[in-house]
Amino acid sequence: MTNSTDHAAWLESIVLDFINSSPENNMQNQTNESAFEEPLVGFSRGDDSLYQAYKLHVGSFHWTPHEIFTLSFPDLELRPEELTVISWVLPQTKATRADNRKQSTYPSERWARVRIYGEAVNVKLRKHVVAVLQEEGYQAMAPMLSPHWEWKKSEQFVFASTWSERHAAYASGLGTFGLCDGLITPKGKAMRTGSVVARIKTPPSRRPYTDHREYCLFFTQGICGRCILRCPVGAITEAGHDKLKCRQHLKPTTADYVKSQYGFDGYGCGLCQTGVPCESKIPSKKDMEKYASL
Ligand code: SF4
Ligand code: SF4
Repeated sequence: MTNSTDHAAWLESIVLDFINSSPENNMQNQTNESAFEEPLVGFSRGDDSLYQAYKLHVGSFHWTPHEIFTLSFPDLELRPEELTVISWVLPQTKATRADNRKQSTYPSERWARVRIYGEAVNVKLRKHVVAVLQEEGYQAMAPMLSPHWEWKKSEQFVFASTWSERHAAYASGLGTFGLCDGLITPKGKAMRTGSVVARIKTPPSRRPYTDHREYCLFFTQGICGRCILRCPVGAITEAGHDKLKCRQHLKPTTADYVKSQYGFDGYGCGLCQTGVPCESKIPSKKDMEKYASL
């Protein structure tokens, strides 16, 4: 590896090869279907000022890349600018999205499988990226897998975690937030996201937006709100996302359903991520038209 641009292509290929080729990418159903389609990968610098801003917007407990990295490697002395956040988006498959679009209260089986077994793929991907970097001599860690990672009470958001994958993805140019709190990416909002922090120089990805809600039609054009209608428990309103209502639906309601109907311990919903114009793309006013009569 000779320069930082090579690093970007190399890091992207690690994520893409794993999801596109590894048998680990499966949702553990009878046909071992892939859990995810081709990922998006982005990078942000360890000293990006957004990570400091998250202390105001998310909570003072939200780590900067430097904070969690030095917590993980306490003997290291390094500057924030030596670090890169490698962030990815794992889009739900066409079949999973189509199934969940038909649901009105509970998750489809594919969706529930991806919530549990797909997230297990995401965990393996985080470990794989860390292992490949370490084999090549770069220190790396996954914040979500850190024993220090935890949920905290947040004045503004009721609860929030010490590392938000969606915020890392936003900083890495991968998408902006929607009315329902999901991240709208070029491959839509029906996705899962992950990240690794590494001591490696990589050019940051361009953020093709200036506002954190730029891709949501409700905030930019005053239209849509389709996710409000999709939520079975009224957890999304014009005022935003009620995390408590949402969580109460996930557990125990959907957990009981998944166990009794699909036969495994799981939960999920994602109705606000499917059957909406931002499901698999950055939506336009025209995309909204087909929902007008529904
Ligand atoms: S469904 Fe509409 S209002 Fe809701 S996040 Fe997507 S674009 Fe925004
Ligand atoms: S995940 Fe389900 S319960 Fe939560 S906001 Fe979305 S639609 Fe509502």
